[in-house]
Amino acid sequence: MSEKIDWANLSFGYMPTDYNVRCYFRNGAWGEIEVSSSESINIHMAATCLHYGQEAFEGLKAYRCPDGKIRIFRPEANAERLQSTCRGILMPELPTEKFVEMVKKVVKLNERFIPPYESGASLYIRPLLIGTGAQVGVRPANEFLFVIFVTPVGPYFKGGFQANPYVVIRDYDRSAPLGTGVYKVGGNYAASLLANKKAHDLGYSCEFYLDAKEKKYIDEAGAANFFGIKNNTYVTPLSTSILPSITNMSLMTLAEELGMKVERRQIPIEELETFEEAGACGTAAVISPIGRIDDLDTKKSYVFVKEGEQPGGWSKKLYDSLRDIQYGRAADKHNWVTVMD
Ligand SMILES: *Cc1c(COP(=O)(O)O)cnc(C)c1O
Repeated sequence: MSEKIDWANLSFGYMPTDYNVRCYFRNGAWGEIEVSSSESINIHMAATCLHYGQEAFEGLKAYRCPDGKIRIFRPEANAERLQSTCRGILMPELPTEKFVEMVKKVVKLNERFIPPYESGASLYIRPLLIGTGAQVGVRPANEFLFVIFVTPVGPYFKGGFQANPYVVIRDYDRSAPLGTGVYKVGGNYAASLLANKKAHDLGYSCEFYLDAKEKKYIDEAGAANFFGIKNNTYVTPLSTSILPSITNMSLMTLAEELGMKVERRQIPIEELETFEEAGACGTAAVISPIGRIDDLDTKKSYVFVKEGEQPGGWSKKLYDSLRDIQYGRAADKHNWVTVMD
């Protein structure tokens, strides 16, 4: 079957693979790792994930590299972020070793679905933790299911590094200042669907969020972290309602290594005017350059990439540096990469 897959033309969609891995939490303990070839899960209709949103997810990728090896980028960081999410919505924490073991196992079991290096495609890994115990009162479940499935996804940029337009949304918030924005939970995404649809309907590729309380500072670029670059400085928001992106964390490290200054602080929306480059970052694209951000209320348009021009130099440099580590083309100084044996 795998010979029939048109690797270079895959989208960011779901394609069935051979296996997924699962682990149940029952009677206060995590069980054995199970391998399943079923795409379904069978859960109680009163499961807390269905009613009260007790669910968390993660996202990471495995890459087939030019040296023939398979590399997975920073799975320990995803394990730790999932643990933080678990503390936030009262779910049992899955130990890092178990998380990484399951990631490696599901990648290995589905090796034939890891796209060839030349295609630019990769294997997306989706861990999911849900409250499965029945509960009608608002309380955490007593049983949980952790699942990891994988699916091949296409290259994010088909025609090279491209810039996208964003629109500032003031009528909706994706998360509250002291809410669940720092956790990777489905509820934040449900809260963003309408704003995202409005942005698309207006012809933008994504909505752009300001802080929910004052609507003064930049929060996130849709479901990705924001960064701006000026005067050799990489600036990214400090906020209590954004998701700590592992890509952003890695880019901050690389920016310093490339000789840039790094600032993590509140960014007033007016400051957008002063950035030479801007981008959205996350696992899906690494960096998705922002062409412009329109503020429909103030009628201001912040332009970073002019019509017909290429996205800025620092963004491309940072993008290439991170991709080189992910593909084993550059030394992995920080021990970010798990190489499969
Ligand atoms: C997952 C996610 C990101 C990106 O995180 P990475 O670890 O870099 O993939 C950014 N913002 C939100 C809201 C997310 O859910």
